[in-house]
Amino acid sequence: MNAPNKSGWKPAMTPDNGASAGTGTLTGNRALMLEEPLLFEIGHAETTGVDLELVEAELPNRLGGMERKGSIGLVGLTEPETVRHYTRLSRQNYGIDLGFFPLGSCTMKHNPRLNEKVARMPGFADVHPMAPASTAQGALQVVYELGDWLKKLTGMPAVAMSPKAGAHGELCGILAIRAALTARGDAREVVLCPESAHGTNPATAAFAGYRVEDIPATPEGRVDVDALKARLGPDVAAVMITNPNTCGLFERDFKVIADAVHEAGGFVYCDGANFNAIVGKVRPGDLGVDAMHINLHKTFSTPHGGGGPGSGPVVLSEALAAYAPLPFVRKTGDLYELVEEEDAAAAETSFGRMTAFHGQMGMFTRALTYMLSHGADGLKQVSEDAVLNANYILRSLEDLLHAPYADSGPCMHEALFGDKDFGNGLTTLDLAKALIDEGYHPMTVYFPLVVHGAMLVEPTETESKATIDQFISAFRSVAQRALDGDESMKHAPYYAPRRRLDETQAARKPVLAWEGDRET
Ligand SMILES: *Cc1c(COP(=O)(O)O)cnc(C)c1O
Repeated sequence: MNAPNKSGWKPAMTPDNGASAGTGTLTGNRALMLEEPLLFEIGHAETTGVDLELVEAELPNRLGGMERKGSIGLVGLTEPETVRHYTRLSRQNYGIDLGFFPLGSCTMKHNPRLNEKVARMPGFADVHPMAPASTAQGALQVVYELGDWLKKLTGMPAVAMSPKAGAHGELCGILAIRAALTARGDAREVVLCPESAHGTNPATAAFAGYRVEDIPATPEGRVDVDALKARLGPDVAAVMITNPNTCGLFERDFKVIADAVHEAGGFVYCDGANFNAIVGKVRPGDLGVDAMHINLHKTFSTPHGGGGPGSGPVVLSEALAAYAPLPFVRKTGDLYELVEEEDAAAAETSFGRMTAFHGQMGMFTRALTYMLSHGADGLKQVSEDAVLNANYILRSLEDLLHAPYADSGPCMHEALFGDKDFGNGLTTLDLAKALIDEGYHPMTVYFPLVVHGAMLVEPTETESKATIDQFISAFRSVAQRALDGDESMKHAPYYAPRRRLDETQAARKPVLAWEGDRET
């Protein structure tokens, strides 16, 4: 592959001078890392990976004139070419199975293989969403029992299992709140979100038709309770608060806030994405929560899986239970049934549906396996170890890096740092890119917005002390270089399959389709 190809990849740059080492004679491959062109560049229309018998007979046209008139220009590849293409691409990616993944607020924990084994059992893996309930009792039992665990762990009376991710769960919770308000003839228009809220919170509220207003944070990184109380009134439908919050701190005044919101006739939405820090220790229901989503792909160890599938069940208070979406699983005696629109009583109050079917079966199976293999005691240890690991990182770096809330007490699941005193105009982005060269996926950067150049590190409980020590030493080394103003960091990473990408161009002018010549 000597000619420059159409996707525009160039041979790798040398690390020391950033100049191209390529003269047209190199492949761009480095050691066993192979450059990978597009399928369209390696395949040919005349190649095929399957060997089908030619059909001579004229087939009746059953497509009513919709049949294809010519080639659609797809290339064919042999089976080895196909396997190698995708295997090479997968090696250019970074995943939790490859190394430590300290992405704050994402709870990137190990996905236990026991979960995978259970999820692949044919009775679970092959069950069809349209299967009659009488033939899918085991699957419905999994959905029911998982929901039961979630209710017990959160101290909440009801749960909606169908939302497919955290943000989808937020929408479900806010729609339940809107349905409850509508039912009492109360057209409130405002949802309050703290400054440090995850972006999905205001997005959800706006999507559901609410006007979003900010609530400031105190200097110690928690919700300003006085400012929030002052804003409450007959136009406030709900308050959305993340607890533990995205500064990695527990909102100690949550109960006080919830009481005030209820007093003012509003509802309390808790973003439960960070439940990993408190599972088994705190029941959000005891704090006055009305609705809270739980990310099974965070706290309960199911894979984040390249953007999906996630799963975001929502627990609901007594006040919201009747408005939960359909369908849901009900247990009568020993029988499990899926309650659908035909159930007049449920359909009367439910706000509608979030999804076509009952939710993410594969994630339910994995999450329940995780819960059963840990037990209630084990889940308590999960949160204790996750918090211990995060505090270990916080205390191992606070002498070097600016740690804005280090004095607000121990952190919860994640440690937060800022870019204060970086030399030579270096930024958090430069540090993050330099960390790639050390073999780590960078932490979450520039979030939460309340800290300048934020770096949010969440180790989770599944990492050993040895792994965390190694990360700390790499992190200290790049942090020291940033403080010293090491110019070379501006061009990092040097050792990744790609150097620094133009993220602005990628966002503004995304190239989503290959438009080269199709040789067909
Ligand atoms: C991850 C996360 C979400 C969104 O969850 P998704 O499953 O990614 O949709 C919402 N809030 C917080 C605090 C999160 O960390």
